[in-house]
Amino acid sequence: MSELKNLEFWFVVGSQTLYGEEVLEIVAKRAREMAETLTNSPFIPCKVVYKVTGKSPDEILQVMKEANYSDNCAGIITWMHTFSPSKMWINGLALLQKPYLHLHTQYNRNIPNTEIDMDFMNLNQAAHGDREHGFIGARMRIPRKIVVGYWRDEKVQKEIGSWMRSAVGYKVSKNLKVMRFGDNMRNVAVTEGDKVETQIKLGWQVNTWTVGELADEIEKVTPEEIDRLVREYESKYILNTDKTESVRYQAREEIAIKRMLDREGASAFSNTFEDLWGMEQLPGLATQHLMEMGYGYGGEGDWKTAAMVHIVKKMTEGIPGGTTFMEDYTYDLEPGKELSLGAHMLEVCPSVAADKPRIEVHPLGIGNRKDPARLVFEGHEGPGIVISLIDMGGRVRLIVQDVEAIKPIYPMPNLPVARIMWKAMPDLLTGAHCWILAGGAHHTVFTYAATAEMMEDWADMMEIEFVHITKNTTVEALKHDLFLSDLAWKLRS
Ligand code: MN
Repeated sequence: MSELKNLEFWFVVGSQTLYGEEVLEIVAKRAREMAETLTNSPFIPCKVVYKVTGKSPDEILQVMKEANYSDNCAGIITWMHTFSPSKMWINGLALLQKPYLHLHTQYNRNIPNTEIDMDFMNLNQAAHGDREHGFIGARMRIPRKIVVGYWRDEKVQKEIGSWMRSAVGYKVSKNLKVMRFGDNMRNVAVTEGDKVETQIKLGWQVNTWTVGELADEIEKVTPEEIDRLVREYESKYILNTDKTESVRYQAREEIAIKRMLDREGASAFSNTFEDLWGMEQLPGLATQHLMEMGYGYGGEGDWKTAAMVHIVKKMTEGIPGGTTFMEDYTYDLEPGKELSLGAHMLEVCPSVAADKPRIEVHPLGIGNRKDPARLVFEGHEGPGIVISLIDMGGRVRLIVQDVEAIKPIYPMPNLPVARIMWKAMPDLLTGAHCWILAGGAHHTVFTYAATAEMMEDWADMMEIEFVHITKNTTVEALKHDLFLSDLAWKLRS
């Protein structure tokens, strides 16, 4: 949590000079108290800093400019304690480049029956002022989150906290570098995408480094460095193999990959089994441990999923449950109890494990290399979501589906990889139908920690299309939505 607590959200309160100094002093004092209370809330991951009571176009313009240029400021929260004429906000909001939340609340919870008079009415008129403020947001078509309710309430604080995490995702996205080792898997369509358009829209810098350079880096790793990392593996996982050379080679690969990522300031990477030039094993355990440390990963050159794994991990820092790269593999089609089995060749993040993962070494039929060490485990039970970002040509679409992970109904003793079993919403057959209709990939981010709302808010901030498949989704309704959405996005992009 410590890293998130350094990020600030600026509380910008609206008013005007009409009310006189005394009223404005009360407004500022209360705004400060509210910011402190929100900062200290267990549901708010970052700092809320009261900045200014906006009373003039210049003051508002100034604070928006500062917000844009402050690296610590991850977004702004506005609230109109009194009436703040919204034409004063136009020039500032037009420049704002940070996520924006409009908090519709008021300082007092109840109307003070006997004390209420016109002075009280003039001071406490958010119901009035926030409507004027809402209009200008709508009129200017600015992406914004609206949270409504009493500021001391858990529900309101949780909503603000969740939106802050989306804003963290925005910040991470705008600074993200993805390192590609090798290209996308030959002939695969869904892992492709327009990297220039993606950088314009999402900020990601996606570039390639040669596998040969990685192979050289792997050679440079020393036995002492390998010893140290293998000891770390042994402290975290159960060593269930006597093929220690294979485990040591994974440590060697991990150190080399991490070194190259850190050198370039990259936090996500992709590779492909079709290009392992100079490498003895496909990185398995190495990639799994890197993901556990927070790096994003996508297999078969899938840089979009790699980036999303990292973004979701950063958004959900401190929330238990885990987040991993995942792939839909196969189904259990027992009527009425249909289930998905997800896994990957090797690379599932141990942050989602139900129990201590086992390090094992098994042959890998793909990639024509030596038997790789990998972590084998079952994913834990609980609600989650799967996330897929696809390139629709000219724009990207973010697809999220609600799922319920269960304890796998079969032990599957001969399956040598980590696995998760889940029920897709609304049920597997309808859910898969919807997923395929929307064009969702076989690769996903599987997360127990992020919510669909968090991802929707993130998509709004990034100004990209969002599709959500829930327990209430029907094929008919989704088909209609996708048709309209396609038209709307063609106009927008
Ligand atoms: Mn794959």
